[in-house]
Amino acid sequence: MSDREPVPGGPTGGVAGPSDGENVLEFRDPEKADALAQRAEELVADIDADEVSIMHVCGSHEQSIAKFGLRSMLPDGLDLRMGPGCPVCVTDMPEVDEAVALANAGLTITTYGDMLHVPGTAASLSDARAAGADVRVVYSAAEAVDIAEGTDDDVVFFATGFETTAAPTAAIVRDDPPENFWVLSAHKYVPPAMEVVAAMPETDVDGFLAAGNAATITGWGLFEELVDETDTPITVGGFEPLDILAGLVVLLRDIRDGEVTVRNAYPRCVTERGNEPAQNQLWDVFTTESGEWRGIAHIPDANLVLQDEYAHVNAREQFEIDTASLAASDSSLVDDCICGDIMAGRADPTDCDMFGEECTPEDPVGACMVSSEGTCKIWHEYGGRPDL
Ligand code: SF4
Ligand code: SF4
Repeated sequence: MSDREPVPGGPTGGVAGPSDGENVLEFRDPEKADALAQRAEELVADIDADEVSIMHVCGSHEQSIAKFGLRSMLPDGLDLRMGPGCPVCVTDMPEVDEAVALANAGLTITTYGDMLHVPGTAASLSDARAAGADVRVVYSAAEAVDIAEGTDDDVVFFATGFETTAAPTAAIVRDDPPENFWVLSAHKYVPPAMEVVAAMPETDVDGFLAAGNAATITGWGLFEELVDETDTPITVGGFEPLDILAGLVVLLRDIRDGEVTVRNAYPRCVTERGNEPAQNQLWDVFTTESGEWRGIAHIPDANLVLQDEYAHVNAREQFEIDTASLAASDSSLVDDCICGDIMAGRADPTDCDMFGEECTPEDPVGACMVSSEGTCKIWHEYGGRPDL
């Protein structure tokens, strides 16, 4: 990564955003946003292509983009789309099936709230709960441990999320949890998925806006290898409107100049090396394995599974998980769901015939309509194509 001149209109003269004590409204300043949007337009005009395609890989980015109507500020020739950025959406059906099977077998299942309604092959965890299973929502792995400590029953933490939630799960696993506490890991690791998506010809990504929160753990340096492998520039971006616009300007400048490099447009939170104690914890407890990301692809080395040393907390090692009994009922709607195409950047939610009709947040057909970080749910919440 090399340093460059500050981004015009940037909140603090550069590409930084609010730090402790600064007013968040400063990072929503309309004049600075207009200046950045104008700069983006100039850069897109300078790039010799009919369309420039930038993919962000974070549900929180999509929320800000939709909530603040950022797409409406961007030039027509810039296609800004969401990739595999929501850990709920990419959790595969068989993983949900495992949690449902354990719930049906009488174990207590604890998990994050968004996971409750994600469809499995035949049922979601909320269906299992309605049928009498003990399924509880927690806000952290630590809360799941608290539940285990208060009962003699077996308690399974259905652990989902990327690096940001995998690191706290790892800390809990290392912290000698009670004997009736188990982890069913569906944690996932983002960089290999970016590599696979970048290689898909129909995706055709010119640059990635990487998730600033995951990068607080991994550091921006992690992306250098990915840039080399994908031949695609990456800029790490924060989540306030000016963070995102500034990140896009930085990335567009690299695309225009043909500079294939990593840049950090979120320096108030992200360093080159990231949070090394958290990384050590993560890789002490987890290792990677190949597996499906729902609807996207089979991705090498992107599923986080517990190391053998921690088999004594691994639900998959300790219980026979009977998912065969979960026969699919009428799965024709799910078959027609195009979540995979949306998460691979090949389609928008409004390309799906079921968007807002058969599929709504109240009655979701696919995973993208469930999570608050899912593109379909975000677009539904902010009104179809959210060019506000
Ligand atoms: S888990 Fe974090 S990095 Fe991943 S989509 Fe959610 S907010 Fe973004
Ligand atoms: S609208 Fe529903 S069915 Fe269509 S892609 Fe989105 S989640 Fe899947």
